[in-house]
Amino acid sequence: MAHTLSTLAYLVASVLFILALRGLSHPETSRRGNLYGMVGMGLAIVATLAQPGMGGGGLALILAGIVLGGGIGTALANRIQMTALPQLVAAFHSLVGLAAVFVAAAAFYNPESFGIGVPGDIKAGSLVEMSLGLAIGAITFSGSLIAFAKLQALMSGAPITFRGQHWLNLALGILLLVLVIAFVATGSGVLFWVIALLALGLGFLLIIPIGGADMPVVVSMLNSYSGWAAAGIGFTVGNLLLIVTGALVGASGAILSYIMCKGMNRSIVNVLLGGFGSDPAAAQAAGGGGPARPVKAGSPEDAAYLMKNAGKIIIVPGYGMAVAQAQQVLREMADLLKKEGVEVSYAIHPVAGRMPGHMNVLLAEANVPYDEVHELEEINPEFAEADVAYVIGANDVTNPAAKTDKSSAIYGMPILDVERAKTVFFVKRGMSSGYAGVENELFFRDNTMMLFGDAKKVTQQIVQALQK
Ligand code: NDP
Repeated sequence: MAHTLSTLAYLVASVLFILALRGLSHPETSRRGNLYGMVGMGLAIVATLAQPGMGGGGLALILAGIVLGGGIGTALANRIQMTALPQLVAAFHSLVGLAAVFVAAAAFYNPESFGIGVPGDIKAGSLVEMSLGLAIGAITFSGSLIAFAKLQALMSGAPITFRGQHWLNLALGILLLVLVIAFVATGSGVLFWVIALLALGLGFLLIIPIGGADMPVVVSMLNSYSGWAAAGIGFTVGNLLLIVTGALVGASGAILSYIMCKGMNRSIVNVLLGGFGSDPAAAQAAGGGGPARPVKAGSPEDAAYLMKNAGKIIIVPGYGMAVAQAQQVLREMADLLKKEGVEVSYAIHPVAGRMPGHMNVLLAEANVPYDEVHELEEINPEFAEADVAYVIGANDVTNPAAKTDKSSAIYGMPILDVERAKTVFFVKRGMSSGYAGVENELFFRDNTMMLFGDAKKVTQQIVQALQK
């Protein structure tokens, strides 16, 4: 009876997770989606804790883990800046990977508790599941640590490449497969740890050549890996819900990686093989070196005057808007302009900011109406009819080098065609390049006016000028 009830609860939780993913696919339904996910997870935890055989010391240990882990997670989530979320997510992925390694080790050394045999005589099917969970978990762990270090700027974001790198990765991948087969055939403890070490090395080698603008794909790819690692754990511990949830995370992460690749105009194979990010020397030369070139700088009052008299304005938010937390005052500016009869819309690039959907989240937080927010393909043809493109803290996503410069780290990435607007305002603090380290030619164009300063302060000054 208890077993039937828990199976039913798992089924309901699985459906809630699917509804959560569906809800999260649109800003309007995302809150409901989150709620479904939370209820589903609550149900899953209760159903798992109520399983027959659960109780006594085991239950106490689990509850202690929930309190300790939940406490650390809550403290971290409260303190973390929105702009640092990608590295937090990478760090969380590394923990999922590590958990998969530990669960595989626990099952290997204590197979009776998992009902998969006795030490030295574990079922072949279980050895397959265990070794796959171990390998994927270890790759996820070390790969996520490198992604964390790159995103946190603890190591250079530039690709680290060397001759024969792809061949080495391929050879290690094949070796890993051979070792998994040998492990399944022999059940050897030495092979278990050799697989773990090799997979750790492979995770490291897979992520170091990926750099510059390709990090969004890496984050979503590691998200996918962590899902498959969790599914692997589900097989080992014989938990159906963990298999379903892991597969959902794995599949949705894979779909997100595909969407991000499309957004960057990359093939997933190219990103996986790496070496796409910026050439550090070229980036340095483009970003800083060379004689200073003249730019046209304007004041917030100039910008307010021009915008008040415009017919159509497209706002392009980027990472700098997130840093400055300028979304609220940006909406105030848009409201004032709309009162003046100006048509205002927002253009969102798929990799603007530092995480998928970053700009959508911030604009939603400021209650920007969803029907004013447009995706790249939808809005790009409209720049030619716009009087003003107001680029606030965005840089790479507008850089035409993506179309013209084959040596550029962002070459091939579709960009927002802001330069086709009559006037382009760039709100940023100085002349520095964006995440990919590539100088933006648009700063020097005749129809560009730089509005130097913090995105929030500059926009506040425009609001004041508009109110006069
Ligand atoms: P960029 O990183 O290209 O540019 C942001 C600009 O904001 C900088 O040039 C900076 O210039 C400016 N800025 C920073 N702080 C402020 C501030 N307080 N006020 C005003 N301006 C500020 O951002 P984009 O959004 O255009 O592009 C995103 C980049 O990040 C892409 O290369 C993408 O591949 C990458 N990326 C995206 C991820 C995602 O999932 N979306 C994840 C990881 C990387 P200055 O210093 O002069 O002010």
